[in-house]
Amino acid sequence: MTRPSKTNNTVCQRTDDLIEYVFSELQNWSISAVVGKTRALGDASWSEGERSLQIRINRSVRDWPDPAIIGLLAHELSHPLVGYNRPVELSTDRHVLKRGLGVYLAFERAFIGRYHDHTLKGKDRYLGFQSIREELSPMERDTLDRLLGEFRLIPHRQPRLQIQHDIVRGGT
Ligand SMILES: [Zn+2]
Repeated sequence: MTRPSKTNNTVCQRTDDLIEYVFSELQNWSISAVVGKTRALGDASWSEGERSLQIRINRSVRDWPDPAIIGLLAHELSHPLVGYNRPVELSTDRHVLKRGLGVYLAFERAFIGRYHDHTLKGKDRYLGFQSIREELSPMERDTLDRLLGEFRLIPHRQPRLQIQHDIVRGGT
């Protein structure tokens, strides 16, 4: 038997925290969050009818700072709540902001080097650090700047990671 890695524990713990404090409507869902093999940073698949959600987080996330992990998980947990409202990724990012987790989303985007919005095929896009920061309240901006300072993270315009952000598969 293999012992769960530290990251797996962090991912599970943060998922539980987010469901308890922010995404309470997912409390009666069956949710698993694991660190494993995926070609994106995150992978979310769900069934609305069965109220089940599986989140797989890329192994490269194991060295991420906590606020970045929270930002990624907040995005993945928002997917089944947004469903296939188009544009999917933009609606999901907006949902994270609406839930008051914009600070973590901005931190994650700064960490992966997505300063500007990242446009996908069609009309979809992920929000970048800059546009998320613009949506934050002055207090949230202070918190974000403090976190960036604490982790010595300087937002910059050079993409750090080329990997796809996430893969989603949902059903009714
Ligand atoms: Zn997504």
